[in-house]
This record gives sequence, C-alpha cells and structure tokens, in this order.
Amino acid sequence: MSDPHAIEISGLRKSYGDVEAVRGIDLRVKSGEVLAILGPNGAGKTTTVEILEGYRPRSAGSVSVLGADPANPTRAWRERIGIVLQDCELLGQLTVRESLAMYAGYYRAPRDIDETIALTGLQEKSESRAGHLSGGQRRRLDVALALIGDPELIFLDEPTTGFDPEARREAWTAIDSMRTLGKTIILTTHYMEEAQHLADRVAVFARGRIVAEGAPDEIGGRAEMPTTISFTLPPKAAASDLPPVFRAGAQSDGSGAFVSVETHNSVETLNELTSWALERAIELEDLSVRRPSLEDIYLRLTDEEGAS
Ligand code: ATP
Repeated sequence: MSDPHAIEISGLRKSYGDVEAVRGIDLRVKSGEVLAILGPNGAGKTTTVEILEGYRPRSAGSVSVLGADPANPTRAWRERIGIVLQDCELLGQLTVRESLAMYAGYYRAPRDIDETIALTGLQEKSESRAGHLSGGQRRRLDVALALIGDPELIFLDEPTTGFDPEARREAWTAIDSMRTLGKTIILTTHYMEEAQHLADRVAVFARGRIVAEGAPDEIGGRAEMPTTISFTLPPKAAASDLPPVFRAGAQSDGSGAFVSVETHNSVETLNELTSWALERAIELEDLSVRRPSLEDIYLRLTDEEGAS
C-alpha cells in the first residue's frame, strides 16, 4: 500500500507478427487514481490493458503492476486485482447474493457480501436472478463482483457500452463508490462524457502510442482554449450594427445572421454583447456560451494523429 504508483510502464511495445499494436508507451498511475483510456478502434488499448492484467505477453519494455511484473502473475497478485469484463454471461440462474457468495469463495479475504450489495445499490435485487436484471442493475452486479475480493486495482472495460442514459448514471454511481473506497481504476471507454465524469486523468491512445495525457479539463490544452459565443440575430437586427468583435463573426451582413466568435475573455465579451442587446431590446434566444468539450479535444487529437 505504501507504493505511490499502482502502475508504472516504460517503453512498452507489443507486436503481433508484422502489426505493431503498441509502439512505446510510458505511463504511471498513482494509487487511488481513476485513469480513463480513450482512443479509436485499433489504437492498442485492449492490448495494453491485457498486458497489465497479466493476460498477454509484451514484446519489450518494463511494466510494474502493484509492484510486480504481470508477465509472472501469482495467485496472491491476482487477488489484488479486479476485472469487470464487458459482458459476462455465466451467472444467469444464480441470484445476486448467490453470485457474490460464489465469487467470494475464490478469495482468501473477501469483502462482506451485504456491505458490497449495499455499496452497489443492489439491496432490493439481492434475491433476484442475475439473468433477470436490467442492464444497469447487471452492471452494478458486475461492479459488486469486481469488489467482492476487495482488490486494490480494478480494470473496467467499456462498462456502459449499449446502456440507456439512466442505466449509465446507475453504473457511474457504482463506479464512484469504488473511487470512494480508494481503489485505483483503469477505465476503457468510448464515451467522452464517461471519462469526464469519472476520471481524474485521461490518456488518449492512437496508433499504439499515447498522444495526450492529463486531467479531463486540461488535456490537450483544453484549459487555455477559447470559449465560443454564438447566437442568431432576430430579423429586426442587422449584423452590421453589432459591436465590432461580433460583426467579424457574423456569417452574413444582413438581418437574421448566425454569429459565432471565439474569446479568451468571455465575461467581458458577453457583457459587451448583452449590453448592446439590452439597449436595443433585442432578444438573443439561442445564445450559447461553450467551452471546448473533451470530445472536441479528443477528435482534434485523434484527427491530427490520423493525418500524420
Ligand atoms: P478497440 O477500441 O477496437 O477495442 P483497441 O485500441 O483495444 O481497439 P487493440 O485490440 O489493442 O486495439 O488492437 C491493436 C492492433 O493490434 C489492431 O491493429 C489489432 O488488429 C491488432 N491485434 C490485436 N490483437 C491481435 C492478435 N491477437 N493478433 C493479431 N493482431 C492483433
């Protein structure tokens, strides 16, 4: 527990014949951190995660997971790691409680079953068969199963793929409960909103490398990027009357123009706009003020990589 890093990777490479799936990755994950791994299909995410889990040999580089080399996994090491797979079908006929009891039997020091049920919000479903749960409840059970061995490090592979928004929120609540327990979490996801909501740090993979890494709000220079202010002028207002900074962002000179400007000083720029509109009693109904989203940054990073 005293090691500040749960994971340390240096110069990791993996080839499958001629295919270089992972081409030199360096990464450290602190204990208690939630890291989201993002990246397009084929970027090397699964390969990297499976090397960390001890399920795939590497071609080169050094890897330490919970202080050990995953290339030589021991039973004691495996017990410190929880893995939530995308779809695990084997439990259908068992109830939630029976499933947890079965998994608990695999570990020397499992968590308390009732406590784990409560932590994942499954109290009302504890006697229901796993096969009869909704998608969101099922994922909560998966999280409970990953927690039952009381692991220090948990791998979550696309935990909410195919979920409706409500089920996704339920799953996020369960994942947040793991964070509260101080677990280190490696989350692979294709949903930017999920990474934004859950992760302390994001690593963007593309073509076998990490192309950007940082806090969701800062990655890729996000914190320094301009804010976009946009609106549509009502028919009675002409774009040529707008304050100069907005005139330049109008898509036509006439009335009803769509206007979009980027600014590093959103408060002052907005004040200029709203004062102008108030003085003339002009409504700006679809006024929007938008910071670049994690998705904007992700698309830019992975597009740049695709173009290079
Ligand atoms: P996805 O988001 O689609 O899961 P990924 O980022 O997880 O993609 P990987 O599954 O790690 O990507 O694959 C990286 C590259 O390695 C791809 O080009 C893939 O075709 C190749 N690859 C993966 N597994 C094998 C294998 N067992 N044998 C040969 N090539 C493989």
